[in-house]
Amino acid sequence: MREQFPFFAAHPELTYLDSAATSQKPQAVLDALRDYYVADNANVHRGLYQLAYATTEKYEAVRQQIATHIHAARPEEIVYTRSTTDGLNLVAASFGPLVVQPGDEILVSGAEHHSNFIPWQQLAKRTGAKFVIAPVQEDGNTDAAQVAHLITPRTKLLALASVTNVAGGAVAIRPLADRVHANGGFMVVDGAQQIAHLPVDVQAMGADFFAFSGHKMYGPTGIGALYGRYDLLAKMPPVQFGGEMIDTVMDQDTTWAEVPLKFEAGTPNIAGVIGLGAAFDFMATLDLAAVRAHEQALVARLRTGLAAIDGIQLYGDEASIGIVSFNLTGVHPHDVATILDEAQVAVRAGHHCAQPLMARLGVPATVRASVGVYNNEADIDRLIAAVQSARRVFD
Ligand code: PLP
Repeated sequence: MREQFPFFAAHPELTYLDSAATSQKPQAVLDALRDYYVADNANVHRGLYQLAYATTEKYEAVRQQIATHIHAARPEEIVYTRSTTDGLNLVAASFGPLVVQPGDEILVSGAEHHSNFIPWQQLAKRTGAKFVIAPVQEDGNTDAAQVAHLITPRTKLLALASVTNVAGGAVAIRPLADRVHANGGFMVVDGAQQIAHLPVDVQAMGADFFAFSGHKMYGPTGIGALYGRYDLLAKMPPVQFGGEMIDTVMDQDTTWAEVPLKFEAGTPNIAGVIGLGAAFDFMATLDLAAVRAHEQALVARLRTGLAAIDGIQLYGDEASIGIVSFNLTGVHPHDVATILDEAQVAVRAGHHCAQPLMARLGVPATVRASVGVYNNEADIDRLIAAVQSARRVFD
């Protein structure tokens, strides 16, 4: 598996355990990007020559590919975005004002990434709604029972990560979606940490919206997608204006293109879309159940190794989806990361764009190791040894 990722040949000494921040890219994705620029470069949806038609077809085929992978009902339900952040902001800016009135409630968990927190906090401020934050579990994971408890007839939007990015817990979305729907609200899912690790079925999970980024699933940066239920997308106004998102432009008014093009103003990230298609092709070569078993074994090995170190505080649990966050008592997480860096082990240390969660856990930051398909037991053992040496240095 590792041989498919040229990054590791470029960095033979490095132990890369930061895939939750961004994953490495397989050769097939790099080839697709290069091939596009070498042979297929033409703008989409406008050229009246064969190459432009052919490139537009390849570009649109990826929409179907995504729809199939995440079980959307139709390709028009897939809006190309820059990222998870971009998709969630689109929902907050366009759909939010359609459904949220003063006095309504917008519900999130205290474990959300800033991308799935601030857009709703700001929407609540703009609309005069109440921003409700569900308490989290002690281990840093979303507490589904607390979320369920806080859903009321005033809850117009429930926004949750299906896998959280600090403790790595998977959240059972369906029962919460059912509950929010029964109360007349809508379910927004931040799928950034799910997409590379678990199968996605947006209809089975009851998502009205589901956002993800290509770069966390072995694809390029700068490209992502937002799934939205067709009837909802159809009602939503565009929030960006320009080329390709129009039907007719008159002096004093404009009519919009159909869903999803009305949300895709300007020349899109064509290479990114092609690269994302290649990343989905790569994902299709994986046995996701086997990947899950492999990643779970690595998480278990890491948790066991770390648990034996004096003064370790572990977040999340064994079921974590490829993520292990921890702290070493008496040592700032940035100092731990510096020692790991000296040992050529790349992890993330910081607040992980989850300051509200850090405040709830009572820490400024954590160290977070996260795995991808290319990691192995030797990577985990090198990390454990480096944390042991950090313990010795700071004793
Ligand atoms: N949501 C979660 C749970 C994440 O882990 C991340 C990225 O770390 C994001 C949202 C934001 O993703 P991006 O920066 O690709 O928009």
